Amino acid sequence: MTGQTLYDAVLLAIFCSAAVVLVALLLLTAPYGRHGRQGWGPGLPVRTAWMIFESPAVLAFAWFYWQGPQRLDPVPLLLLALWLLHYLQRAVLYPLSIRPRRSSKVPLAVVLMSVVFNLANAYTNARWLSDLGHYPSGWLADWRLWSGIALFAAGYATNRWADSVLRKLRSESTGYKIPRGLLYERISCPNYLGEIMQWCGWAVATWSLAGLAFALFTVANLAPRALAHHRWYRERFPDYPAQRRALVPFIL
Ligand code: NDP
Repeated sequence: MTGQTLYDAVLLAIFCSAAVVLVALLLLTAPYGRHGRQGWGPGLPVRTAWMIFESPAVLAFAWFYWQGPQRLDPVPLLLLALWLLHYLQRAVLYPLSIRPRRSSKVPLAVVLMSVVFNLANAYTNARWLSDLGHYPSGWLADWRLWSGIALFAAGYATNRWADSVLRKLRSESTGYKIPRGLLYERISCPNYLGEIMQWCGWAVATWSLAGLAFALFTVANLAPRALAHHRWYRERFPDYPAQRRALVPFIL
């Protein structure tokens, strides 16, 4: 199998898995966090699980990126910096900062599926940036790069802020509370909205099928989970604000 054939096959697999994941997660909520339940086999402690399944997005990405002939070109380097900004935080700082409930575990099956996805996604995105994509220096003046980066930055700020609100809530008690303030007055899951904005921004900035596949996969993964979180809040808190939606203000 040539490098290009392997790339096409992995990319197609990510597009197909986005469709499968969307349907599966609308029928069955992923069993971790508040939706954790018996019957999913052995699990790992939450912090360890996050570090393991996010690590390919740093290590494998860096390795694949480094194989490409365009690895020292300015635009791929700029996009590499964006990717690492997010994933160093997600794979190292985020797991260290959360306060998981003591009984909480992430099933090995979930960890394994996440590792496989992160490996495939790192491969397609890194290979595109440093090898298959075409980013001449003129791309530095292209509207797609900068509008994509702007959306990525807005999503990143939203995601980090929303996760920090949840972190503070958890430091006040070991259970769950209703998050309040700013975007939380409109939706239940601004952290997921921020994440989706980030990867849509990435798709625009890289103008690539690899980026588009990742953005679609993120929507497929997080939109059903936002709906499940929203239902869970409404069932658990009788005083849950009625005007709040799940993921998109006024719409969803
Ligand atoms: P959640 O919002 O379910 O939980 C985030 C953390 O906050 C957990 O430690 C959780 O505890 C705690 N928490 C959540 N709600 C409350 C509350 N109301 N009161 C107190 N504590 C609370 O997010 P996820 O764990 O699903 O995801 C974490 C991050 O990873 C997010 O930024 C998300 O965007 C990102 N992510 C990205 C994915 C992608 O496809 N790119 C996929 C999955 C996640 P507990 O675990 O005990 O519920």
